[in-house]
Amino acid sequence: MEILTGAARPILDRWFESEELKGTLATDAIIGAMASPSMPGTAYVLFHHVMGEAGGTRGVWAYMRGGMGGITQALAAAARDLGADIRCEAEVDRILVRDGRVAGVALVSGDEFHAPIVASNADANVTFLRLLDRSVLPDAFVADVERISYASASLKINVALEELPNFSALPGTEPGPQHRGTIHICPDQDYIERAFDDAKYGLVSADPVIEFQLPSVVDPTVAPAGKHLMSMFIQYAPYELRDGSWDDQRDAFADRCFDVVNEYAPNFKSSVIDRQVLAPPDLERIFNLTSGNIFQGAMTPGQLFAFRPVPGYARYRTPIRGLYLCGSAAHPGGGVMGTPGLNAAREILGRRKLRRR
Ligand SMILES: Cc1cc2nc3c(=O)[nH]c(=O)nc-3n(C[C@H](O)[C@H](O)[C@H](O)COP(=O)(O)OP(=O)(O)OC[C@H]3O[C@@H](n4cnc5c(N)ncnc54)[C@H](O)[C@@H]3O)c2cc1C
Repeated sequence: MEILTGAARPILDRWFESEELKGTLATDAIIGAMASPSMPGTAYVLFHHVMGEAGGTRGVWAYMRGGMGGITQALAAAARDLGADIRCEAEVDRILVRDGRVAGVALVSGDEFHAPIVASNADANVTFLRLLDRSVLPDAFVADVERISYASASLKINVALEELPNFSALPGTEPGPQHRGTIHICPDQDYIERAFDDAKYGLVSADPVIEFQLPSVVDPTVAPAGKHLMSMFIQYAPYELRDGSWDDQRDAFADRCFDVVNEYAPNFKSSVIDRQVLAPPDLERIFNLTSGNIFQGAMTPGQLFAFRPVPGYARYRTPIRGLYLCGSAAHPGGGVMGTPGLNAAREILGRRKLRRR
């Protein structure tokens, strides 16, 4: 019960002595969350990040050869082998409903596709409040969807590098073990608490919590020979800023993050070729993630399990017959794991079998 509802910090304090280790593990308790490790609900976020397996090993993460797009390309190839027709750059404008049943989708281009089943992996806010006319949904359901928390404070920076970071703690710019895993800049748990204090009041963290990977060290396909790619994930960068806008703060905050990395790897700033900074409104604009929430909705106890996306609709079905949720907005939530899609497919296939009987 403590893992499902409690805070990560007391659990980490009970199990471990080293502040360095606790601080490192605690970052997994706050990823994508607008919370600090001492807040209830973060124990589950930590658990969510370590319960999986990759390459047959439990509790670890893996790199995808060719970058994350390699996963969707593999899925697309498998789907095409089975006869699927995939349209890209095809923004859905509306989900069509006739007599309480889903009837298909209409694209922004004006094209319409008619089907008895539609599975949406856009988040619940987008699916129900933007792609559907509210009048086709029960009022209580609309009220529940409007209450979903999309609180978020994650910022992403993709960086092209001339050479690898030369860490003061373990020098060297040739690929070494210090470059292969996830690098956490977060000396202890109090550091995270203070970083969150800023976010509570609508400020970006003065001393941000930074994680980064260097996928080009293990996968030469993601950068030209001799150059490197760095993927930075940063907290806390609140979607709603107290002062000013993200257009004013995006670059200044990225500069601050670069200064922090430079304290640990003094060659870092001079090795940067280019960067792409994605603040929460950018994640919203590009990926249609409400408030830039990376998990399509906060992973807090009131929005997990039977309550995801909203109470009464945790089984991938929606108030519109034939319309299903199949992405992170549904149980078991965010992350590249495929489980919401697998479960939704089972639900859809199960229904079709029942209808045929
Ligand atoms: C910066 C960042 C870092 C992350 N890091 C990790 C990580 O390290 N590990 C991990 O496991 N997970 C990570 N995640 C979370 C993970 O990416 C998501 O949980 C996962 O992609 C969810 O997959 P999905 O299919 O449910 O939804 P999404 O990947 O959100 O896919 C939804 C798709 O629907 C499209 N869409 C939305 N609206 C429309 C519309 N109207 N018409 C047509 N298309 C539409 C979107 O463009 C998008 O392609 C991260 C997410 C972000 C944003």
